[in-house]
Amino acid sequence: SSFQDLGVDEWLCDTLKAMQIKRPSEIQRACIPPALSGKDIIGGAKTGSGKTAAFALPILQKLSEDPYGVFALVLTPTRELAFQIAEQFRVLGKGVGLKECIVVGGMDMTDQAVALAKRPHVIIATPGRLHDHILHSPGAVHLSRCKFLVMDEADMLLTPSFAPNLSGILPLLPEKRQTLLFTATMTDSILAIRDAKEDPKKKPFV
Ligand code: AMP
Repeated sequence: SSFQDLGVDEWLCDTLKAMQIKRPSEIQRACIPPALSGKDIIGGAKTGSGKTAAFALPILQKLSEDPYGVFALVLTPTRELAFQIAEQFRVLGKGVGLKECIVVGGMDMTDQAVALAKRPHVIIATPGRLHDHILHSPGAVHLSRCKFLVMDEADMLLTPSFAPNLSGILPLLPEKRQTLLFTATMTDSILAIRDAKEDPKKKPFV
């Protein structure tokens, strides 16, 4: 199959062609059609599988239809991953004038606060630093109309060390949103999220 067969718009297919990306990878074939049709996803994929494009392409396509506010929040466990994800969004999103913002530790808080105040389309963040911004200046991170939450390396994000941060961030997102979760391994916390989708009474925090 081609990206076009998966429902990817022509402008994005042209961008992919220019990047010499010709055929969708397995995770892209599995995730792009359901993500475009509004479904939540739990994708099993590690770095190198093309998982970033698997979530970035549907987000960019939906964003191009209605580009306002903070459209997507991408949470990832490390700075390095945040930079890699942002770079792919930048390249793939050239056609829509994408404004993205990286919010990670070890960098200037004030610069990040200024960038967050401009309501970027996509925030790519590590949980600790994004939570710092929320605690430091409640109301400064505009997540209430966010359409997509991406949990990259969710097996890492759902470990106890991130739990206090996630419980400070996730309640700011609207309940009506798409959650795209990617993980290299199926942990109990990820299975709990899947089970809770089938039985809404079992509600975990995602
Ligand atoms: P990721 O797994 O998201 O870290 O992606 C790894 C690398 O593969 C990135 O540099 C992408 O630009 C590239 N890539 C993504 N999708 C494809 C594809 N379908 N075919 C070839 N390369 C790809």
